[in-house]
Amino acid sequence: MPDYTYLIVGGGMTADAAAQALHEADPGGSVGLISAEPHPPYDRPPLSKALWKGEPEEKIWRGTAASGAALHLGRRITAVDPRGRSATDDRGAVYRYKKLLLATGGAPRRLPLKTDQIIYFRTLDDYRRLRALATQSVRFAVIGGGFIGSEVAAALRMQQRDVTMLVPEAGVGARVFPADLAAFLVDYYREKGVTMRMGEGMAGLDRRAGSCVVRTTVSGELVAEVLVAGLGIVPGVELAEQAGLRVENGIVVDEVCRTSQPDIYAAGDVASFENRALGARLRVEHEDNANTMGRIAGLNMAGRATPYHHLPFFYSDLFELGYEAVGDVDARLETVADWKERFREGVVYYLKDGRVRGVLLWNTWGQVDHARALIAEPGPFKPEDLKGRLPA
Ligand SMILES: Cc1cc2nc3c(=O)[nH]c(=O)nc-3n(C[C@H](O)[C@H](O)[C@H](O)COP(=O)(O)OP(=O)(O)OC[C@H]3O[C@@H](n4cnc5c(N)ncnc54)[C@H](O)[C@@H]3O)c2cc1C
Repeated sequence: MPDYTYLIVGGGMTADAAAQALHEADPGGSVGLISAEPHPPYDRPPLSKALWKGEPEEKIWRGTAASGAALHLGRRITAVDPRGRSATDDRGAVYRYKKLLLATGGAPRRLPLKTDQIIYFRTLDDYRRLRALATQSVRFAVIGGGFIGSEVAAALRMQQRDVTMLVPEAGVGARVFPADLAAFLVDYYREKGVTMRMGEGMAGLDRRAGSCVVRTTVSGELVAEVLVAGLGIVPGVELAEQAGLRVENGIVVDEVCRTSQPDIYAAGDVASFENRALGARLRVEHEDNANTMGRIAGLNMAGRATPYHHLPFFYSDLFELGYEAVGDVDARLETVADWKERFREGVVYYLKDGRVRGVLLWNTWGQVDHARALIAEPGPFKPEDLKGRLPA
């Protein structure tokens, strides 16, 4: 029975960041990492961006094995016993631990049809499958206009593929961007050759003559040989629930990333944490959070007491446009746009009760820390106070 000082369940960026931190903080402690994926940890963001622009696949690996962690790949933990401090995998192997980290991330929301013509774009294997299909002259439909949908549609179009986006909202990224920017992106995608079906959601799904047929909410049909579903993720909380940990929109952790069981930590996409700057509990599905929170969880498992007070940022690329964003970038908040060049370069501030809650840095780089400082300021701010605040 493997017996580790530290056991990490999960094989994503959070798991890797924790393994590296454990090695640094307690080089004598043993670390076991169990991942359901057959590959060691790798960077996910390039799967929908850089790899389509020519970056070689070998660049994504994070070199986790060099931390000394024992990697158990292609295995899924199915049960955790907090009292006995052990976890069991899907082949019946039992691993003992002193401290456990749940870095189980999330799994894509699924559509009600079982077929390999639907790709849920999350893993390296999903990327490889779509990349192989993108060499064929077939029709692609992307369901959803959020991060994954908009990035994958751009990636496929850059390979000159026939791509249709089916988006229930009126704009691309409508939950994040102000309405005028989200509407601009619809035109921008059309100019790039993507067929945009806006205000149209999925009402049903069938197969017909080798194709997928989507029935849409406006009684239309969309026929494609490959569907990419960008419907968001569901946090992987099953093990936490089974182990009796507190779960509320993710595994609830304290400021040192500890769950309601003192020997069990959680971090990354799956963890719900209190953020001081925003005065709110967050669950963040982005790279900076995975890297920073994973590292802090690792340090704390090894005995440090470093609080996680970081306000994570995220980024995305849409054809030639790119952005970074910090804080609560929710299109329902009051927004103040300060464009240097309309929709091409500028800053959007998100306000609530006179405070800046989020900042969108549109083709504006090197400003993330300044944006964080602005979010920490008590205000109150009026829209005119914000014009010209960033870049600082
Ligand atoms: C295509 C794509 C592009 C992205 N682009 C960006 C971007 O541009 N910017 C940005 O900020 N963020 C981006 N993200 C989000 C970012 O990648 C995630 O926030 C990050 O990967 C989360 O890491 P994680 O380790 O917490 O979770 P995950 O990456 O979900 O990893 C969880 C791991 O745990 C494994 N696992 C789950 N349950 C078990 C179990 N019971 N037993 C064993 N193993 C288990 C899974 O197989 C998986 O390997 C992107 C994500 C994707 C998919």
